[in-house]
Amino acid sequence: MGLTFVKTAGDDPGEVAGLSNRIIHAARYGSSVLRGLWPQTCFVCGERAGRQPLCPACAAQVRALPAPGCPCCALPMPVAGVLCGRCQRRPPHFDATHAPFIYSHPLREMVLALKHGQGFGLTGWMVQALAGAGRGVAADCLLPMPLHRRRLAERGFNQAMELARGLGRELGLPVRAQVLLRDVDTRQLAGLRQRERRRCVRGAFRCVADLSGLHVLVVDDVMTSGATLDEVARSLKQAGAARVTNLVLARTLRERPD
Ligand SMILES: [Zn+2]
Ligand SMILES: [Zn+2]
Repeated sequence: MGLTFVKTAGDDPGEVAGLSNRIIHAARYGSSVLRGLWPQTCFVCGERAGRQPLCPACAAQVRALPAPGCPCCALPMPVAGVLCGRCQRRPPHFDATHAPFIYSHPLREMVLALKHGQGFGLTGWMVQALAGAGRGVAADCLLPMPLHRRRLAERGFNQAMELARGLGRELGLPVRAQVLLRDVDTRQLAGLRQRERRRCVRGAFRCVADLSGLHVLVVDDVMTSGATLDEVARSLKQAGAARVTNLVLARTLRERPD
């Protein structure tokens, strides 16, 4: 979003009001130039938020993922270093998962805004949270969860790519955006049971590079059942990856066993 509309503003009060709304919108969501110039309003409640996207009260509602967690899928566990029941029964193809937050209000709304192209003002904040969770991981490269090309054409961007790009700069790691292709446009998996989710994503990805010996850090916004990330890891391991770690902004907590 640029500032070219300033030149076309007239004296009409309605137009001026519209202009100020657009500036507020730009400061809140769009222009990093404007964000640096004056305080932001809180993404959730609209109160003053200083230079952060959330005011202190709303930031306090973002729930950290409790530790310790399952070493493989990060599900909160009572004891450190113990695999959860699901990872014991059916070990995923990925080796570890890191997530700073639980997927709940207000993070859910922030993630959805990012997905729908309204949350670019939040990206920096999200990248910092991801970097904090992933800093100790000795990975060789980052790989954003790919979108199917049809979805990419609809949206015009991939939110996982936006996160991975910032994270690459933060962690000093290369972003390998072109090595994994999503051949199947998997429908929304919400509401499906674990077995159905796995069937839906089976064969959805194709790795077109040799990843022999590499530790790949897969970046995505949310981990729900982990079925999609498991299928990604399967493809990466087939391509030679030695280790696959997931780094996601938020993880859902399993409400009921499958
Ligand atoms: Zn707030
Ligand atoms: Zn687990």
